[in-house]
Amino acid sequence: MKFYVLTLFPEMIEQCLANSITGRAMEQGKIALEAVNIRDYTLDKHKKVDDYPYGGGAGMVMQAQPIYDAYRAVIEKIGHPCPVIYMTPQGKTFKQEMAKDFAEYEELILLCGHYEGVDERVLEEIVTHEVSIGDYVLTGGELPAMVVIDTISRLVPGVLHNDDSANTESFENGLLEYPQYSRPEVWNDKAVPPILLSGDHAKVDAWRLEQSIARTKVKRPDLYQEFIDKQ
Ligand code: SAM
Repeated sequence: MKFYVLTLFPEMIEQCLANSITGRAMEQGKIALEAVNIRDYTLDKHKKVDDYPYGGGAGMVMQAQPIYDAYRAVIEKIGHPCPVIYMTPQGKTFKQEMAKDFAEYEELILLCGHYEGVDERVLEEIVTHEVSIGDYVLTGGELPAMVVIDTISRLVPGVLHNDDSANTESFENGLLEYPQYSRPEVWNDKAVPPILLSGDHAKVDAWRLEQSIARTKVKRPDLYQEFIDKQ
């Protein structure tokens, strides 16, 4: 799986994702990342990539030409069309199900806006999906793109050492994950639930499912209702 990120701040993307599990996955060739600097594609002699908005208003708008040329360069390299995800607060809210759908592709292009946003005409020309990470406005699309890449990467086979952990996690079966405990058995006078020390896997599974349902009901009544409706 290869992610191409069209951005004005490639170091931000490269440095962040080079760490921890995504970093290891890149070293092992399970995922690949190319942060494409949109500025490298501007035809402006001063390397400008933004300009004032027509009609007036605050801030600057990222221009169409450098983004389009950066996109074309990536498509030529890949050799075939692939999804182009524009990170925008106006997009569909990113969810685990969406991450699973994106994880089916071999390549994804993510476009990060900045300033007041991007000239609408290039969005109309190249974007296949608009994705938001929530109802708030960030300064740029880099953090959202990293959220999306991190989430999808975990779903790529072999990225997590124990593939089971992706299967039992929150949202996988429409429920939040059960509570987790580690050593010591007693901490601050709080003991680990005895069933987890019983060695009886069937009972542990049943307890975990019960806990998942109970905490989903309290923490995410919306998810709980969907779960109940599906039963
Ligand atoms: N003027 C735009 C609007 O009101 O829809 C917001 C522009 S925002 C300041 C700059 C860039 O940050 C956007 O082009 C987008 O790429 C990114 N961005 C900001 N908030 C986001 C969010 N919640 N999800 C995804 N991307 C976001």
